[in-house]
Amino acid sequence: MSATDYQTRGRVAVISMQNPPVNGLGLALREGIVESLDQANGDASVEAIVLIGAHGTFSGGADIREFNTPAMFAEPSLATVIEAIEASPKPVIAAISGACMGGGLELALGCHARIAAPDAQIALPEVKLGLLPGAGGTQRLPRVIGLEAALNMIVSGNIVPAKLLAETDLFDTMAGDDLLADATRLAEQSIGQPLKLVRDRKVKHPESEGFLMVAKNTVATMAGPFPAPVKCVEAVAASTGKFDAGIATERKLFGELVQTPESKALRHAFFGERAASKIKGVPADTPTRPIETVAVIGAGTMGGGITMNFLNAGIPVRLLEMSQEALDRGIGIIRKNYEGRVKKGKLTEEKLEQRMALIHPTLSYDDLGDTDLVIEAVFEDMGVKQQVFETLDAVMKPGAILASNTSTLDLDKIASFTKRPEDVVGLHFFSPANVMRLLEVVRGEKTADDVLVTVMKLGKTIRKLCVVAGVCDGFIGNRMVNKYIAQAIAMLEEGALPQEVDKAVESIGFAMGPFRMCDLSGNDVGWYIRKRHYEEYPDMPRMPIADKLCEMGRFGQKTGSGWYKYVPGDRKAHPDPEVEKLIVDTCAELGVERRKLSQDEIRDRLVLALVNEGARILEDGIAQRASDIDMVYLNGYGFPLHLGGPMLYADTMGLYNVERRMRQFAALPGADATFWEPAELVKKLASDGKMFN
Ligand code: NAD
Repeated sequence: MSATDYQTRGRVAVISMQNPPVNGLGLALREGIVESLDQANGDASVEAIVLIGAHGTFSGGADIREFNTPAMFAEPSLATVIEAIEASPKPVIAAISGACMGGGLELALGCHARIAAPDAQIALPEVKLGLLPGAGGTQRLPRVIGLEAALNMIVSGNIVPAKLLAETDLFDTMAGDDLLADATRLAEQSIGQPLKLVRDRKVKHPESEGFLMVAKNTVATMAGPFPAPVKCVEAVAASTGKFDAGIATERKLFGELVQTPESKALRHAFFGERAASKIKGVPADTPTRPIETVAVIGAGTMGGGITMNFLNAGIPVRLLEMSQEALDRGIGIIRKNYEGRVKKGKLTEEKLEQRMALIHPTLSYDDLGDTDLVIEAVFEDMGVKQQVFETLDAVMKPGAILASNTSTLDLDKIASFTKRPEDVVGLHFFSPANVMRLLEVVRGEKTADDVLVTVMKLGKTIRKLCVVAGVCDGFIGNRMVNKYIAQAIAMLEEGALPQEVDKAVESIGFAMGPFRMCDLSGNDVGWYIRKRHYEEYPDMPRMPIADKLCEMGRFGQKTGSGWYKYVPGDRKAHPDPEVEKLIVDTCAELGVERRKLSQDEIRDRLVLALVNEGARILEDGIAQRASDIDMVYLNGYGFPLHLGGPMLYADTMGLYNVERRMRQFAALPGADATFWEPAELVKKLASDGKMFN
């Protein structure tokens, strides 16, 4: 099937773009437009041309399925298509509805006139992928909507409804109910009129130089580590001069941005999110189970946050607790949370009440039986989980999905407490569960395909980024973070201080370093797990500094002290001489000669600890793909977006260098050589000259 449909309506040829779902400008469509244009120009009975999108949308821009393939760069390129339109001796009218974004908008800007449905969505979102519009958008848009408005759109990438641009020269007129009829009329009116091109217009601004200078400084401050926004300003600035020179500047800047690691990281995140939704071995057309009501067991930290996700999406929740008091406390916290949003003006009083009314509190399992999904968020104790799942097995209707929010326990064992392990799945939310975007979907050995597909779909409804993980201690995120924290603590035992360790990764953009993170989540959590492990594995290496810190009751922010000191009313972490003394004294007891660790060493040891475990997670099949690991770290652990996640970080460093660095760490005095033995996958990729992603 051709990617364009060609028809004539009297003297007007109508070229309709047909590349579902959003008429992405893939090679076939680009070819189709040029061919149809030539056909119209070769037909003596045609005097004007309408370019319209099928399926109610003009064009969403580049066809993302073509990214990183030769077709992306094959001729006719979008620039060639636009040149062909501009060179057309017969007027070409863009008839715009739905999405008109990126390359789609650039295409429309190459036409001789534009007509839009008022609800069409206009944007140049390239900056969100660390790029700038590379087919003339930075030069043509300012010529029709003005320098300031164009700069705002290009630097933000935000969507603007066409009706807000109705008064600008972007549109010759706005359409009524019948876009094609109105566009055809506009085409007829333009017959015999002089051809108008956006490129021939001048950018009007009373004081463009001063404005652009201020804009550049402001944008530079706001852009942080990302170079694209400033380059967007530079490209737009070039629109005040000659058109061809501006286009050359745009092309040069685009070429520079494509190569930047920041743009690669943003594109990795974009495609990584899409890849995460695909489950290997599960057909895309697997039917889902309907989820209309949800039950949550436990109204503590996690249960409360999990409940809020469903309330926000308008899904009723039966919330079960052990006592009326615990239930009241949990519901009180949910209300307080919403009240905070009301105070900030982010939620209306009415919506608050609507959401609260969706909670059905209960102390009896009899109230849960007919719900479609139940999520357990009770204490992290196998005995308690056993009791809960045995009861659920007895009361839940057939086909209900039984989910656990466990962070460390064996999901397959939990599933074995029921006679329907195929209905059991892990839904590992992150704290605060109503805020954090990540949701690890834990696939048990027997979890049914339709259960997985159903919860992945539900995850989207509650606006989570779902990543599938296999069963192991800590799944993807926590299994890796355990190694990261172990490495952070090991560095204290060699000579570093908590603030030095944190600074090494905070300075490259981590939301917080490992010690601030532990103080936030509670040092006692790891301590309890360690104590259990010391008993289970007596030969396991100890963590004397971390253990002593907990023996002192320094559990973190909640006790006012941990690796740092906290003062009431201030969340800042203050370095504490008492902690420094504890570290130095313990090193002396252990007979360790402390040395100065460079920031580079600390940073690489932390990140490569994540990478090595990430590689093992891939080897073990716990994660489906390297980009899934990166999505977990970008969305659940504050890994900086501009670095794209730990596995992309390793790719950028090069696997040969990664392996070499690990071997250097293994040779350091007092190093744990087993810890730094490179994973088989790291060695293989390094020797094959390949990458994780
Ligand atoms: P919590 O102590 O804050 O809450 C647990 C709640 O469960 C309490 O309100 C308790 O009264 C209730 N409860 C206990 N046994 C029950 C039972 N038999 N029936 C009904 N209610 C019962 O704990 P939490 O931090 O919310 O953790 C809950 C689960 O979530 C654990 O499995 C934990 O590993 C997991 N998790 C916690 C975090 C986190 O950061 N806190 C993150 C991810 C997952």
